[in-house]
Amino acid sequence: MTSHTSLLTAIDARNHVYLVIGSNPLAAARCSQSLTAGAFPILLAPETAELHYALQKRIDDGEVKWVKETFQDSHLFSLGREEVGRVVDAVFVTSGAKDPLSAQISSLCKRNRIPVNVVDAPQLCSFTLLSTHIDGPLQVGVTTNGRGCKLASRIRREIAASLPQSLGSACLRLGDVRRKIQEEDHLLHKGLGDGDDVDDSVDQSASFNKLVTEADLDAAKNRRMRWLSQVCEYWPLKRLAAITDDDVATILKSYDNPGSAESVGKSTLANNPDNRGRIILAGSGPGHPDLLTRATHKAIQTADLILADKLVPAGVLDLIPRRTPVQIARKFPGNADAAQTELQELAIAGVRQGKTVLRLKQGDPYIYGRGGEEVACFRAAGIPDDRVVVLPGVTSALSAPLFAAIPPTQRDVADQVLICTGTGKKGKPPAPPEYSPSRTVVFLMGLHRIQGLVDELTAYTDPERMAQRQDIAARRLLWPRHTPCAVVERASCPDQRVIRTTLACVVEAVEAEGSRPPGLLVVGAACEFLNAPRKGQAWSVEEGFRGLDGVEELGLGMGMGSDA
Ligand code: SAH
Repeated sequence: MTSHTSLLTAIDARNHVYLVIGSNPLAAARCSQSLTAGAFPILLAPETAELHYALQKRIDDGEVKWVKETFQDSHLFSLGREEVGRVVDAVFVTSGAKDPLSAQISSLCKRNRIPVNVVDAPQLCSFTLLSTHIDGPLQVGVTTNGRGCKLASRIRREIAASLPQSLGSACLRLGDVRRKIQEEDHLLHKGLGDGDDVDDSVDQSASFNKLVTEADLDAAKNRRMRWLSQVCEYWPLKRLAAITDDDVATILKSYDNPGSAESVGKSTLANNPDNRGRIILAGSGPGHPDLLTRATHKAIQTADLILADKLVPAGVLDLIPRRTPVQIARKFPGNADAAQTELQELAIAGVRQGKTVLRLKQGDPYIYGRGGEEVACFRAAGIPDDRVVVLPGVTSALSAPLFAAIPPTQRDVADQVLICTGTGKKGKPPAPPEYSPSRTVVFLMGLHRIQGLVDELTAYTDPERMAQRQDIAARRLLWPRHTPCAVVERASCPDQRVIRTTLACVVEAVEAEGSRPPGLLVVGAACEFLNAPRKGQAWSVEEGFRGLDGVEELGLGMGMGSDA
């Protein structure tokens, strides 16, 4: 079932002149909505009209201007702002569809491109108002596109109630950080140009002369901006809403090397049997907190210190007792190694102080989670093996396909599953897996370079390998472009999304639909086993997660955190 949707926009209505026609309570509501947005409402109603008391008050207070006349066409073109030739910026008709005047005003407005809204008459409107929640600079608007404003308002209230408090002030704060980073970068760039003969505005010569310093600067700038966008993308909403000045200072400073924890001499642990310190390296599953193992859940409740990776789902972080200190990795492109070192050092320091430290990872710790590396590092730091516990987690590599109704192995369709990374070391692409008709390949960390990935699967692209004829000599088989595939994003989270398509169309589909990280790509015939392709459609999109609905109905679920 497809239904019509609107183009939602945010209009800067400051100083606009809105004509409100009528005198009932709705006219009063339209006037106050206009005022909230910074517009000037003009009420058009004959002198004999009985005004709603709220309206009367606004008129008495001078907020609303009352033109005591009945409607004439000329009002539309004479009551507006001078700078737009006195045409009014929008018209609200509050008398409804039955009044013949409504239709007349509506068509006159439409003919003259004046936005018009007629109460309870969608066919006469060129725009409708959203049911809105306002918190500082944050606005959330809901429309059901004519399926009922009561319903829209109920949905808006539910959404607003599920948002953490002070989200509006967090928006202000994060906006400030963003602006500050931009300003500082701008100043730095200007500083570089000062005392230099080269005209800063002539991009090419400037960057040619100062190649190295400009590049350094760009790196620092990108790191801070990237860190900021990662904070916005990955911090749990509750945590974002509670962002402090200290957090902001850390964000601004984060382009310095973050590896700061002290390094203490080796083997203090082994020599000290009284030290009860331990490290638990645990996976937290793909997203939904019900997919935690009981072992990891217990560890969350009992740890003295939790060091969590960036991707650890919000619903899982919500289970951490309030008193437990938590640190989330400052991992963003270009800072992954530093963030990893930082957490490892903190973990080692914690164990040495006798703490139970939980290193919380997303999915499974040994599937692209650098878990092996960490265990090796703990060993190297002299932490005995019996003080290190590794707990498995449900990996996204296998659960995301499941929640997208894709069985990675399927009799007579797929007899092998390959889990791959789409991104190699130092950003270089890894060797592409070769085609096998009965193979399902799951690519993690690949969606940001989906074009390159698909190119490598479907053609010989590596000039080095080509020159040595390695691909052809080794007969690396290419994947047919009609091979079914699926992009599964935020699997098991409420905003899970599945895009089903083929290798031929997946790049275009991802470009058109945008990205919703984290996500992965599943390739192979198994994608279609439970999901027949829709005829004539290059791709299809499925929104939402219902994978545990039945379980929750049985009362087995632990429930999601309010902002999970
Ligand atoms: N250890 C993790 C994987 C870490 S690598 C695990 O076992 O799941 C991070 C990559 O995992 C992301 O780039 C994405 O490709 C994938 N991923 C993680 N969580 C996901 C989710 N909920 N839905 C889809 N893909 C996910």
